[in-house]
Amino acid sequence: MNLLRITLLALCLLPVPGAVAAAEFAFAIHGGAGTLSRTDLDADKEAAVRAALDAALDAGESVLKADGSALDAVTAALVILEDSPWFNAGHGAVFNAEGVNELDASIMDGATRRAGAIAAVHRVRNPIRLARAVMEHSPHVMLIGDGAEQFARGQGIDLVDPSYFRTDARWKQLEAARAKERAGADLAPMPGTYFGTVGAVAVDRQGRLAAATSTGGMTNKRWGRVGDSPIIGAGTYADDRCAVSATGWGEFFIRAAVAHDLCARMRYAGQPIEQASREVLDAVAQLGGDGGLIAIDRDGNIALPFNTAGMYRGWIRRDGRRGVAIFADDHRD
Ligand code: ASP
Repeated sequence: MNLLRITLLALCLLPVPGAVAAAEFAFAIHGGAGTLSRTDLDADKEAAVRAALDAALDAGESVLKADGSALDAVTAALVILEDSPWFNAGHGAVFNAEGVNELDASIMDGATRRAGAIAAVHRVRNPIRLARAVMEHSPHVMLIGDGAEQFARGQGIDLVDPSYFRTDARWKQLEAARAKERAGADLAPMPGTYFGTVGAVAVDRQGRLAAATSTGGMTNKRWGRVGDSPIIGAGTYADDRCAVSATGWGEFFIRAAVAHDLCARMRYAGQPIEQASREVLDAVAQLGGDGGLIAIDRDGNIALPFNTAGMYRGWIRRDGRRGVAIFADDHRD
């Protein structure tokens, strides 16, 4: 009798051939959507971008694997992407019309619906850390410009000389935008110039969701322009069922209240995440905008839609399947 029990128990404990170990958390990142085509991306740059996306996935995964919070996972991933020169955030951010890097970021904790955001900062090495400090250590949701940097000093957040953010590739983009403007082009962004914003969404083992986004905004922006990325409900949103980070032509994402609308569709209309994601991007397209987003629900379902030629993206699904992709036909998911 006991022998039978022990044998049955041992059989139950044997791994099932072909079964994937459940991760019980899920995670996704983006490095921006845009009109980049295969011919714009040489093999070296593509390898570097993929390696950076992989490193950001690793950073989030190690937090989640160790029973860390979704909030810590999205923060860890964004710090990696902000430090990488390949993305439009932190080091490698685009230049505004004055030739200055002007950074925006936001973060939201779905479990408590606390949020923090910063805009138009010039010296904060990792804007996502400052957004998180605003959420955790100030009575406010959004701080901008000099005031945000003053708050950063008091929080022991790393400040750097503005030259830290510069890369030659971004400077050339600014020069190209200025030349177009001199030739009479309007101030709408040039195709591809908004590639590179970074974002992350996660659900942790406790079922808590979080979202974060960080950007340099748009090349040649002026007059203190702020896009959707630091606006809670537009570029970033998280609640107890859904977390979203967006990328694209920010003015349209603000007008469509993309991130909140996606979660509202799930909450009020019971839409599955894929449908809600598609429909909210259709709303952006109807207004004349384009871009993409990453979204995750509390069951770990992930959607990564975009209506541009590509979106830098990576994911770890609840069953442990993991991948990184760039172009639309590149979805090795
Ligand atoms: N959405 C960002 C902005 O408008 C740009 C981007 O996603 O690349 O500032």
